[in-house]
Amino acid sequence: MDRNNGVVIVGAGHAGVQLAASLREEGYAGAITLLSDDPRAPYQRPPLSKAYMKREADAEALILRGPAFYEQKAVDLRRGVEALAIDRAARVVRLMTGDSVGYDALVLATGGQARAFPVPGADLAGVHALRDMGDAEALRHKLETSKSVVVVGAGFIGLEFAAVAAKAGLKTSVVEVAPRVMGRAVSSTISDFYAQAHRGFGVDLHLGVGVGAIKGKDGQACGVRLADGRVLPADFVVVGIGVVARDGLAKAAGLDCPNGVRVDARLATRDPHVFAIGDVALHPNAFGHREMRLESVQNATDQARALARTLTGKPTDYMALPWFWSDQGDLKLQMVGLADTASTFVTRGDPATRAFSVLGFDAGGRLVSVESVNKAADHMIGRKLIPMQAKLTPAQAADTSFDLKTLARG
Ligand code: FAD
Repeated sequence: MDRNNGVVIVGAGHAGVQLAASLREEGYAGAITLLSDDPRAPYQRPPLSKAYMKREADAEALILRGPAFYEQKAVDLRRGVEALAIDRAARVVRLMTGDSVGYDALVLATGGQARAFPVPGADLAGVHALRDMGDAEALRHKLETSKSVVVVGAGFIGLEFAAVAAKAGLKTSVVEVAPRVMGRAVSSTISDFYAQAHRGFGVDLHLGVGVGAIKGKDGQACGVRLADGRVLPADFVVVGIGVVARDGLAKAAGLDCPNGVRVDARLATRDPHVFAIGDVALHPNAFGHREMRLESVQNATDQARALARTLTGKPTDYMALPWFWSDQGDLKLQMVGLADTASTFVTRGDPATRAFSVLGFDAGGRLVSVESVNKAADHMIGRKLIPMQAKLTPAQAADTSFDLKTLARG
């Protein structure tokens, strides 16, 4: 970095806050400005559909770093301040306050937003997304004041919410246009197990059917009409059909944004002073063998750590192994690697015990993914085995008497 305006980070989610911390850990002594359009103290999102939704954690417990962190580390956190435009020639970010802030390095950590649902009725009152604390607060209230809900979309967030709603005693339906749940991210063995598990939780699951419209009465959602004409009545509707990158700022600044902000292995855009990390970054993924956006805490924090090294003169490619978790009812799903790069799957353990793993191998016979249900030990072993390219056959993986732990020791 050649001038002395320091680093400006737009977005104070997992990626932005971790970057501020990692820059100081790596010895960066310049100015750090962290812009957040949210007036709240920066917080974690995963608990919004888990402990917070179940009222097992309050807002305070979700805060990423206490106020002392920003003070001690000299991070200028500006809450409730949206970055409106980037002037790349002048290396300046224009803010909603009317001020501008100059940068040597600008990092876009703007995350994502809930995908809009293009059906009639989607704008009715009582149709909710689940992306931020405000959404979660509204839904916690609905859980206490309603009798029924339809969840559109059987991805991680939709299913986590459905499990909480069913447990809270609401008549809960889930509608998914794909033939299986979490279909973009997990093996069919895991999908099938979770479909059955949700039916066991009391969820009325409709797979392979789209939504024609959200029905309303007096401006209020009162149910969902399926594409096949059936109507599912509901007191409210939750739409969880995915996340789109918040890349508008970058697009308007002329950066390449086909689906998120395109960056290279060093997380740099084609402007050498502008970088992107976290949910918004379309990056070449070493384990996915393609450009992708990953929506996970692991990706956000590991990209932040890698970029902090690069920005402090230790050029570092982003190479971290992807991992993720999801809590649904009594089931903890932990995933490492990317299941969609596997072509052969074997099951280790008996799904009937509700504690087992599915190991995925690619066409070359390499272990590339481990999906574990209530099997934290297998997950931790998978995090060692995949990067070391351990010699493991599918038959050995399926044999529970074969010792994976010893293999992981190398
Ligand atoms: P974000 O957390 O989205 O933060 C970006 C921030 O930038 C936001 O606060 C936004 O308001 C701000 N911003 C955007 N534009 C501007 C601007 N112009 N000016 C100023 N500020 C701006 N991941 C897991 O790994 N495991 C889980 O179990 C899991 N569960 C989840 C459950 C829910 C309900 C949700 C919503 C997400 C979950 N995730 C989970 C995903 C995880 O939370 C995200 O991958 C992570 O938050 C990404 O961090 P980020 O910093 O890239 O983006």
